[in-house]
Amino acid sequence: MAYGTRQAGTSVWVKVLTRNFPIVLFLILAMVGMTAVYWFFSPADSSADDMFAAVTTYDGLTAPIYKNVPEKPVVQRLAQSPGPTRVAIIVGHRNSDSGAVCDDGLTEVEVNADIAERVYAQLTAQGIHTDLLDEFDPHLTNYYGTALISIHADSCVYYNDLATGFKIAGSSFTDSSQLSICVESAYRDATQMFYHENTITPHMTDYHAFREIALGVPAIIIETGFMNLDRQMITTQADVPAAGIANGILCFLDKQ
Ligand SMILES: [Zn+2]
Repeated sequence: MAYGTRQAGTSVWVKVLTRNFPIVLFLILAMVGMTAVYWFFSPADSSADDMFAAVTTYDGLTAPIYKNVPEKPVVQRLAQSPGPTRVAIIVGHRNSDSGAVCDDGLTEVEVNADIAERVYAQLTAQGIHTDLLDEFDPHLTNYYGTALISIHADSCVYYNDLATGFKIAGSSFTDSSQLSICVESAYRDATQMFYHENTITPHMTDYHAFREIALGVPAIIIETGFMNLDRQMITTQADVPAAGIANGILCFLDKQ
């Protein structure tokens, strides 16, 4: 039974082939013809390099193709160089409140404004673009610059003989250590005042402007002195602390 089936299967194929003999013959001839053409036109050793050499040396029927390609814009892969120098000075408490007040009516905002305006004048005289801002200036939102310094002064209350000196707190959002170091050392040099470390309050380190300005802008707040014991330095000699702050900023800009 199995043999009979196979016999039948073979004869079916033979029948199909003989019945379609012209088509089968055409397919065979076509295959032979194409092989012959391929063999005839292939170089003896038909590696890709030889083919390429054959094509490039045979110039009878080739011509260079010129195509107008528009110039592509150049993509800059290096980081952008920093923009022009721009420094912000916040006049502590300006257009907000008076800040600390002395018994005789001297206000912190007056002291801050006097020093800040002198810093502003010294920096702009050096050709540095400087923005003099209010305590809650709308420009502080996402402010982008090279540095920001907020100028304040300490209490006018006499606590003890240690309530003298200046202090600086840096932003906890952007590394501001270089700016702190520069201003601290220049301010000390100019005023010969002590750095008053012990009374830096969270109010200074969590200063509102640090949160408002753009990330990446070094920012510090400086308490220029106590309005009681350092009063003379930060009022009648205001040019001195102003020079200290301006020199500190120049030191920082120098290191950029
Ligand atoms: Zn203040």
